[in-house]
Amino acid sequence: MKAILVHHTGGPEELNYEEVDIPKPAPGQALVKIAASGVNFIDVYQRTGLYKLPIPFTLGQEAAGVIEALGEGVTGFAAGDRVAYTSVVGAYAEYAAVPTKMLVKVPEGIDLTVAAGAMLQGMTAHYLTHSTFPLKKGDTALVHAAAGGAGLLIVQMAKALGAKVIGTMSTEAKAATARKAGADETILYTTQDFEAEVKRITDGKGVDVVYDSVGATTFLKSINCLRPRGMMVTFGQSSGPVGPIDPLLLSQRGSLFLTRPTLAFHIATPEELAWRAGDLLNGIASGKLNIHIEKTYKLANVQQAHRDLESRKTTGKLVLTPQ
Ligand code: NDP
Repeated sequence: MKAILVHHTGGPEELNYEEVDIPKPAPGQALVKIAASGVNFIDVYQRTGLYKLPIPFTLGQEAAGVIEALGEGVTGFAAGDRVAYTSVVGAYAEYAAVPTKMLVKVPEGIDLTVAAGAMLQGMTAHYLTHSTFPLKKGDTALVHAAAGGAGLLIVQMAKALGAKVIGTMSTEAKAATARKAGADETILYTTQDFEAEVKRITDGKGVDVVYDSVGATTFLKSINCLRPRGMMVTFGQSSGPVGPIDPLLLSQRGSLFLTRPTLAFHIATPEELAWRAGDLLNGIASGKLNIHIEKTYKLANVQQAHRDLESRKTTGKLVLTPQ
């Protein structure tokens, strides 16, 4: 089978399209014939070495496909089942052996490409809006990179929970996309002072929560956008990592809460995975949630997919298909 291997961390040119053996499912695993794999910023961090993996490795940690074979002791799944998963490395490939405890069944009617593109950012948006800072009617959330993969889903879920959403982004075209997803207000943070704009929009009160995937360029100003006792959620670093923080800053800016959450700790039990994936896939099936797949690339063209994601030009989701 073909797979994308990393032998040295570095730029997109380190993504090698190679022939490797089809994996054998170990006990508790299923062999999934992959229909599509999601491209995520975490893949960039693993490719560059910001997040470390033992070398060599097959990149990618989100996919959907059809079960072809089962390892010993598997119950609840059968060959032919349509499944999706995330948080298991090795998804940029034609096949993957995946622990069945990480698999969810994809309802008929949901395209496998859409399911592949939904799992990681969709369940992230779910835990951020339902668990990290559970939004309710009357809350106001500031969502950075609101037209991005995670951003568009956070906007939709926040609106469904009754919150007001202020989204930031770099271009007017992205602002239009975020407004279409439900954002009440948009700020072009590349040309406008987003802190001043947030204060204007909230009549100086500040927002209840900031969901910040951008990191270096937005973190400190975001803290200034919060109401007293509001919550700063830094969950990514598309502009670079956030530096060290003095906890006294949180006291000075209004007894704030700060968290740096990650998906793996929010789908660690079968119950939590079933809850989040169920809400996500049912939302897609019923048409309440829209997964914006911006572009599909052949697996062999993965280098271009990474270049596009890092270039800041993309909105929504990028996916790879093996054929
Ligand atoms: P996006 O689709 O949001 O792409 C990144 C976006 O960030 C860009 O489109 C761009 O939007 C914005 N951005 C701002 N500054 C830069 C910059 N200097 N370079 C590139 N992009 C920039 O990506 P994802 O949704 O896949 O991920 C966003 C972040 O969230 C990543 O850091 C990712 O690792 C993290 N993440 C964390 C998770 C967790 O559980 N902790 C789970 C999922 C994602 P614009 O042009 O509008 O500024």
